Amino acid sequence: MKHNCCNHIGRRTVLSGAVFVAGGIALLPGTAFAGHAEALVLTCIDYRLVDDAVHFFDSHHLTNEYDQVSLAGASLAAVSPKFPSSNAALWDHVDIAKKLHAIKKVIVVDHRDCGAYKVAYGEKFVGERAGETAQHKEVMAEFKKTLAKKHPDLGVEFYLMDLDGKAEAVTV
Ligand SMILES: [Zn+2]
Repeated sequence: MKHNCCNHIGRRTVLSGAVFVAGGIALLPGTAFAGHAEALVLTCIDYRLVDDAVHFFDSHHLTNEYDQVSLAGASLAAVSPKFPSSNAALWDHVDIAKKLHAIKKVIVVDHRDCGAYKVAYGEKFVGERAGETAQHKEVMAEFKKTLAKKHPDLGVEFYLMDLDGKAEAVTV
């Protein structure tokens, strides 16, 4: 474990009188800043790829250098009207990661055969790689647009992971 942990949020915000609203943290005071992390990473919740995601970030020299949010569908969770509470949770956490750890970018790792994508779009692209890739690209483009509006100072990278843990970079 690195030097920063979530306990700092509670302790520091109590000391500095943070304002909370129902459903989440509304404002984090400037004094909540607690060091630097390179990125906030967004992954799906899928149990099949939890270890692969850790290996992936390790291989990108990000060991203990990232904050992490896992929400079903990853990119989809951030922008799909099918998952409004996930939308809110993701963007809240981008705010928090910026304020606490001064992240420089968001790294989004989608994966193939994603159950959340099937919920949103049906099973049309099961086993059909090109169509599946195009569908993820479309959602990632929406993510990029939304991030640029909300946080023009943050970079973004997109990846699509196979079920064997290999991930390809996706340009949108
Ligand atoms: Zn998934």
